[in-house]
Formats: sequence, structure tokens, C-alpha cells
Amino acid sequence: MEKREELYSGKAKSVYTTDDADKLVLLFRDDTSAFDGKKKEKLDRKGMVNNKFNAFIMQKIEEAGIETHFIQLLSDQESLFKRLEMFPIECVVRNISAGSICRRLGVEEGKDLNPPTFEFFLKNDDLGDPMINDFHIQSFGWASAEHVEKMKELTFAVNDVLKTLFLDGGMLLVDYKLEFGLFEGRVVLGDEFSPDGCRLWDSETREKLDKDRFRQGLGGVVEAYEQVGQRLGVNFD
Ligand code: UDP
Repeated sequence: MEKREELYSGKAKSVYTTDDADKLVLLFRDDTSAFDGKKKEKLDRKGMVNNKFNAFIMQKIEEAGIETHFIQLLSDQESLFKRLEMFPIECVVRNISAGSICRRLGVEEGKDLNPPTFEFFLKNDDLGDPMINDFHIQSFGWASAEHVEKMKELTFAVNDVLKTLFLDGGMLLVDYKLEFGLFEGRVVLGDEFSPDGCRLWDSETREKLDKDRFRQGLGGVVEAYEQVGQRLGVNFD
């Protein structure tokens, strides 16, 4: 497999084509951003930690019977993926209230949500990723009704797998964002799963172990990500 030209460079990852039209290389950079790119910093080792963390989680999700785009780790900061036709949508499940839902609905942080709640957001940095609903997605042709249902089903299925996994490591999965795409007509999990795109709290102390450390300037960002990985048994060597 040969890495060719850069296809796309996002806020924390870059995507490269390969000599196989169905496969892409994802480079996890050390760049970290929040607030739609308004806060930015390079954090040493973060690319490596997120790449290995993501590989571990994607494998757990696959083992649970949910198809992902992950193929294999290539190097400390690179992994190989199936090329998906991505939906321009973010799927968020929340088990505990935190972040934007508290601001939007005037609820306090830390409330258990029973049942867990689900939200769609449109991927559009210029608009600040606005919240959208099932009707918007279909009316504007971003995904079909069938694919919308599949994305919800798979996002909740991932919740069942990961809530248990993190709880076994002494952590609460507060919320997370997933992105999906089509591969040979099937809805497949894409993008990444790392502490950049979810909230994780220590289950005893509720200490934040995710990107909120960066958003809120709490420090120890990469150290917290590594601690999360170590509690799950991720090998960062
Ligand atoms: N999230 C993400 N990328 C985004 C927006 C949100 O990975 O562009 C994740 C975020 O880390 C959190 C969950 O999705 O785990 C819900 O985010 P929220 O809506 O609370 O937004 P935020 O607090 O990040 O503004």
C-alpha cells in the first residue's frame, strides 16, 4: 500500500489517498482545536495517543458486530481505513448532561439522562455545526429515512458496547459524537473515536478525562487521554 496525495486536512487529522481507490490513510496530528477552531494548540504525543486509542476502540466496536471503516494501524500516527461516502452529519448520544445541551436547554451539568438522548448536527464549521432533525436531513437530501434510522440504531448500539467498556475501567461515558458513511451500500462507522470526540468522567470523582480539559484550560490533556487508554489496556508503546 502506497500513500499518495493529501485529500483533505481537517482540524486534527489529515486524509491521504493510496494506490487502492477504496482505501485511505488517516494521519492523526498533534493539533488540537475547540470552539469551531477558535482555540488551537499543538499537544505533544496527542496524535499518537488518539491513533492508538481509536484503533483499540474501533476493534472493540467491530468485535461487537458493528462495521467500521478501520482496517489497521500503519504507524504511530497513521491508520488505514476503508473509503466511505460520508454523510455530512454528526450523531450525538448523551448519557449525562454536559456541554452544549446545558447551554441550549438551561439544564445543569451532570444529570443522568434516562433514556439517553440523541441529537443530529450538520457538519458545517461556518454555521457552527447547527443542530438539525430527521426532517431536515431528508428534506435537504443529506441522508435517506432508512439511513437516518440506521445511524440512530448504530449510534445506540455503540453506546451499549462502550458504556460497559468504560465503566469496567472506572469511567462514565457522558456523551460522544459519531459520523457514518456508506460503503458498498451499507452504513458504516467512520471518522474516529477518541477523547477528542467524547466526554469521559472518572466514575468516583467525576474528574474530566476528555477534551473538556482543553476547552476549559484545565491542563494535563494528553496525560488524561493516556490515562483513559491505560485503564482500558491500550498499548501506547
Ligand atoms: N463533539 C465533537 N465534535 C463536534 C461537536 C461535538 O466531537 O464538532 C463531541 C463533543 O466532544 C461531545 C459531544 O460531541 O463529546 C457533544 O458535544 P456538545 O454538543 O456538548 O458540544 P460542545 O460542548 O463540544 O460545544
